[in-house]
Amino acid sequence: MKTSTAGRRQRIAILGSTGSIGVSTLDVIARHPDRFEVFGLTSHQRVPELVEQCLRFSPRIAVLPDRERAREARRLLAERGSRTEVLEGAQALGQLAAEPEVDAVMAAIVGAAGLPACMAAAAAGKRLLLANKEALVVGGALFMRSVAEGGATLLPIDSEHSAIFQCLPEDRGAWGERIDHIVLTASGGPFRRRAPESLHAVTPAEAVAHPNWVMGRKISVDSATMMNKALEVIEARWLFDLAPEQVRVVIHPQSIVHSMVVCRDASVLAQLGTPDMRVPIAYGLSFPERIESGASRLDFLQLQGLTFEPVDERLFPGLGLAWQALAAPAGATAALNAANEVAVESFLSGTIRFTDIHTVNARTVERLAGRHGAVSTIDDLLDIDRRARAEAHSAVAALAPR
Ligand code: NDP
Ligand code: MG
Repeated sequence: MKTSTAGRRQRIAILGSTGSIGVSTLDVIARHPDRFEVFGLTSHQRVPELVEQCLRFSPRIAVLPDRERAREARRLLAERGSRTEVLEGAQALGQLAAEPEVDAVMAAIVGAAGLPACMAAAAAGKRLLLANKEALVVGGALFMRSVAEGGATLLPIDSEHSAIFQCLPEDRGAWGERIDHIVLTASGGPFRRRAPESLHAVTPAEAVAHPNWVMGRKISVDSATMMNKALEVIEARWLFDLAPEQVRVVIHPQSIVHSMVVCRDASVLAQLGTPDMRVPIAYGLSFPERIESGASRLDFLQLQGLTFEPVDERLFPGLGLAWQALAAPAGATAALNAANEVAVESFLSGTIRFTDIHTVNARTVERLAGRHGAVSTIDDLLDIDRRARAEAHSAVAALAPR
């Protein structure tokens, strides 16, 4: 990391501050006014929420990609005497992320839309707290190269990846020789016990009702299809530099064991805790130290047991797409992610059925396979993202009832 915070508070930019991760991040920050100060906040549609956050945390900068919404935010902030400057346009997200005065960037935008700002933070050598898994799924090797070249410190926020990270030594050079494989735990979501034939009738309200975690709508649907775990398999491959077959998944319905490292000597290291995203967020903010997160402590005597089950591929056919995409030429994981974003949106808007999500994803990846050029820049990946979205929209149109 290029910046030094010795003797002063860490300045934080939160990209996606009005979302579930953004709000939890502000909750942790508010517990430590001596350590952190909010430098920048961003949202997409929720203007009043962003304005309230600005009034409470007085950031130097707020960003809204949309010009009209930015104008509205400026008006509301001026009325209440705020001195926060509101920037507009998607490029302002990257500007904020790379701002020299920013020490740490919480990347909590949902979807590939967050990729350019993550790349900007990486290239600027920031401490990059990555919740926005889609950015790494799309960016892959290029993302990791940008982190290395920019001298950034990449800290995983996804609970499973934070768990793995917490089980590993601080010296990244030692990871390869230690790890035999890792096991990502998955809750199985709301439909773990359903008959596969009944899933076509699932409604958006049922799909977003996660049993253990309260999250944004997109990741909640991803948890119900287990596409979330597929994205996490790809995320883990890049974060920990593993071969795809070194990443395994097991269902653990209680969400207490957040993931495990199986070492070369067969010893298993796990990280446990109550399911509360403030724990990995606090660790990302304070690493390598530990600070109060606000999460409740695990009461072992209250636990009803910790159980583990295999993943039923008939219920969760999407999970296998992760290894399939990782085995394909670079760009396939970007196509898979784009297809899934379109499919989830189409499901949430009532255009396609729950089970169609997998059909759209599998068809899009298959149709694009081998049909895109080499990937050497982020623009190449964004081009694949655009083409995959177009393919996915055609697949949706072919499925949707007329
Ligand atoms: P939310 O939908 O709750 O929040 C998303 C945030 O991003 C909001 O601030 C939203 O603004 C903003 N946003 C959405 N689209 C755009 C866009 N096109 N451009 C700029 N900003 C945008 O999502 P979550 O907080 O649940 O998830 C955020 C990321 O963290 C995701 O990648 C998710 O997979 C990951 N994650 C989340 C976990 C959780 O517990 N929630 C756990 C692990 C990972 P607005 O509010 O105005 O719409
Ligand atoms: Mg996760």
